[in-house]
Amino acid sequence: MQSRLPIIIFAAVMAAIPFVPGMPPFWIVLLDNIGLAALVAMGLVLLTGVGGLTSFGQAAFVGFGAYTTAVLTTSYGLSPWLTLPLSLVVSGSLAVLLGLVTVRLSGHYLPLGTLAWGLGLFYLFSKLEFLGRNDGISAIPPLSIGTFKMLSPGSIYYAIWVAVIVSALLTMNLLDSRTGRAIRALRRGHVAAEAFGVHTPRAKLLVFIHAAVLAGLSGWLYAHLQRAVNPTPFGAQAGIEYLFIAVVGGAGYVWGGVLGAAIVVVLKEVLQSYLPLILPGSGQVETIVFGIMLVALLQLAPGGLWPWLISFLPEATRGKKPDTSLKLEQRTRSPGQSSILLQVEKARKQFGGVVAVNNVSFDVQAREIVALIGPNGAGKSTTFNLITGVLSATSGSISVLGKKVDNAPPQEIVKLGISRTFQHVKLVPDMTVLENVAIGAHLRGHSGPISSMLRLDRADEAKLLAEAARQIERVGLADQMHQLAGSLSLGQQRIVEIARALCVDPMLLLLDEPAAGLRHMEKQQLAKLLRDLRDGGMSVLLVEHDMGFVMNLADRIVVLDFGTKIAEGTPATIKTNPEVIKAYLGVAA
Ligand code: ADP
Ligand code: MG
Repeated sequence: MQSRLPIIIFAAVMAAIPFVPGMPPFWIVLLDNIGLAALVAMGLVLLTGVGGLTSFGQAAFVGFGAYTTAVLTTSYGLSPWLTLPLSLVVSGSLAVLLGLVTVRLSGHYLPLGTLAWGLGLFYLFSKLEFLGRNDGISAIPPLSIGTFKMLSPGSIYYAIWVAVIVSALLTMNLLDSRTGRAIRALRRGHVAAEAFGVHTPRAKLLVFIHAAVLAGLSGWLYAHLQRAVNPTPFGAQAGIEYLFIAVVGGAGYVWGGVLGAAIVVVLKEVLQSYLPLILPGSGQVETIVFGIMLVALLQLAPGGLWPWLISFLPEATRGKKPDTSLKLEQRTRSPGQSSILLQVEKARKQFGGVVAVNNVSFDVQAREIVALIGPNGAGKSTTFNLITGVLSATSGSISVLGKKVDNAPPQEIVKLGISRTFQHVKLVPDMTVLENVAIGAHLRGHSGPISSMLRLDRADEAKLLAEAARQIERVGLADQMHQLAGSLSLGQQRIVEIARALCVDPMLLLLDEPAAGLRHMEKQQLAKLLRDLRDGGMSVLLVEHDMGFVMNLADRIVVLDFGTKIAEGTPATIKTNPEVIKAYLGVAA
């Protein structure tokens, strides 16, 4: 958990600013605008920087917030405080609608989709009669507390900055939680997150809603600052500008949104006021200079200015080691359960003309280490993907503890106690080892987004982190617990993936080339760990090319070649099987 001191200092400074003698009133106006933009940018930080979903359409949600209060206060005489929750609900609900459609788009289609609704909604604002068409709505009442009316930029200043600071705190709390880790895992693709039970469309929708509600809050404040609204500030150009703000500030950082807003608002203001003095009669030059300066800023600090600035600060103190005495509930297994954990029957997977897995059958028993070997392209990883629900089989069936699980999604497979690692490591590189491993315990925690924001999740969270820490110690990476996963060697990252898979409390562990990139000693440690796990009651199915490692470790070996099972047996029989030697071992020798 981060220290709250910097935020308290920041809040105190912001509270004192209006009292500074001789403070030009115009600066307060600028600070109001910075706060409003910061709220929107903060949502984009979560959406784009953290969740990897680029949106050009956030200005439309600002519009929803602003128009909701404009209509309800002017046409229906509602008090502005009453319209606040309504503005947020309207923005949030429309985010659900637009999100449901947009979130399923991928690649370039997602930003294009948001741009499309950004443009569309702008025209809607300017065409609807009850929204005042292009003229908009005026005579919006000011915010007031008792008889005190926030008529000046200096008085609404506090409302704006309280909103910014509270939103920043809630957003940071959200990121630093079970739900936050699920959101942060989205950027690494959905496969890894889903393998640990994260419902990725739901997580994406959640960040959409969060970002839209922040934008709606900004719009609500904007309407009561300006006391009038019209469609112009809610168009696609504003949407692009908000994205700019988030990127310049540092799109992965909550405070990057605030910093980006400050830079962009001030820069635009300075250029608009001073450039005409230097270059008289030049109408649009400031737009060009503004663009050039932003590009220069991004050259200087490609990840945004916030991470660049904090890189100059002394290295933050390392995270605290979680209290490993806290325990999560263990999976209960009835002794009567079938001794065949996994049964693969005639599994087949075709990719167009390629038969990657060709009617393969094998099983994994309780307390058994089974190795799946074969040349590159033999279909080993595809078999893993069929078992774990990443791919659905063309035909054949897969049963867990005697129950067919054909076509179950990964989130259901992991619930049955089957967890896995990936041949191509799928960790979130800018999360710590501890946070990455804690994703493995996702299904064993219960806190949702609201309780996380309000910090009511701490007991649950402490148990999850304790479990993660215990598994990290178990695989021998205790010293790396607080390092960023991306800073570890590839071999170590594979071990981190094993710790993450162990957090599931699995009955069967699927490891895809776990020893690749490990040194001799590390391989021996890994072999010992896997034996200990088996002796503790777990089963392991692993793919591995190091034959010395496999032959010493596996109880049973299944050999694939061109998608077909060519042999199965103990290491001793496999070693001498002529077909295996011809297809695979011979090549290695
Ligand atoms: P292995 O893990 O044994 O090296 P894979 O299971 O990764 O082999 O691949 C088996 C075959 O299936 C290969 O020919 C590979 O090119 C093909 N394949 C794997 N995944 C896909 C995919 N998503 N789309 C098309 N072909 C694939
Ligand atoms: Mg593979």
